[in-house]
Amino acid sequence: MLGIETSCDETGVALYDRDRGLLAHRLYSQIRLHADYGGVVPELASRDHVRKLLPLVRQTLADAGLGLADLAGVAYTAGPGLAGALLVGAAAARSLAWALERPAIGVHHMEGHLLAPMLEADPPEPPYVALLVSGGHSMLIEVTAIGRYRLLGDTLDDAAGEAFDKTAKLMGLPYPGGPALARLAETGTAGRFRFARPMTDRPGLDFSFSGLKTQALLAWQASAGDDQARADLARGFEEAVVDTLAIKCRRALAATGVRRLVIAGGVGANRRLRAQLAEAAAQEGFAVYFPRPAFCTDNGAMIALAGALRLAAGQLEPPAIAVHPRWDLETLPLAAV
Ligand code: ATP
Ligand code: MG
Ligand code: FE
Repeated sequence: MLGIETSCDETGVALYDRDRGLLAHRLYSQIRLHADYGGVVPELASRDHVRKLLPLVRQTLADAGLGLADLAGVAYTAGPGLAGALLVGAAAARSLAWALERPAIGVHHMEGHLLAPMLEADPPEPPYVALLVSGGHSMLIEVTAIGRYRLLGDTLDDAAGEAFDKTAKLMGLPYPGGPALARLAETGTAGRFRFARPMTDRPGLDFSFSGLKTQALLAWQASAGDDQARADLARGFEEAVVDTLAIKCRRALAATGVRRLVIAGGVGANRRLRAQLAEAAAQEGFAVYFPRPAFCTDNGAMIALAGALRLAAGQLEPPAIAVHPRWDLETLPLAAV
């Protein structure tokens, strides 16, 4: 299965085989293209996907020593994401599949993130609870089968990754700030800045991160605004987000009685989050699964995997190019393999 990801500012291409696993994967990040604007410029993103996608497909096939004729199908991200960026991947994938007389499969981007831990050794088996924390989403999901997803909790405002990015920006860190803020936090002093753990003082599994961002802004304005304050504030902010996520994960496990936890999405690359949940798992006797950091953020491998599973389940759509800039994860059909 060829997998193509173009939902935002990353062009990802990968080849996945259900028996042999991941055969090759390549990623082109547009970060430099958007950095001057402080965020992703949708039209620039679409055009750059046009430029990069086909060379990346050729290189990925070459990496695996395969040709187009070897493909069983072509999977692409059909949504959610930026409409123009999605259409580039959808048009390329559908055209390629049409020319090769192979099926094309439109994949839900968040299902891709959700299934990414299955690219690793010792993949999780449903049922599990998944914490999906990315640039656009913060969700807790109960997965009872591949394709049967129940939303347990969601963010009421900013996504976790968005809060990382915005807090980094207000302290003057360059775009994309999340990973930079996390790096700074490692050198920060613990305890100098102490922020709230939003919505943990009441029952429920929803999140809210925008208040935390405001607290960080006020603390930053009241500080000396120097490198030490920036690092210490990054540390305090990261600890607040990570603690909040960890508390809600434990709560979701308790509420469902499930003992397996999956972490996915870009914020899943965060080292403190991984360490804290690994420690909680060891202490409390549940199992935790993470994709490698490169498969937490956007990539083609997760799309190839999700496409391969859906093709194996016999799920094909009419050969139309359809994308869903907004798409409710809970409306997916069951993929009974
Ligand atoms: P979505 O998947 O919801 O459509 P997206 O595709 O933009 O959004 P991802 O690529 O999954 O999101 O993740 C990117 C996000 O992850 C960014 O907000 C980024 O700041 C955040 N992120 C990446 N690495 C880290 C890290 N080490 N610590 C904290 N946040 C991180
Ligand atoms: Mg991205
Ligand atoms: Fe994503």
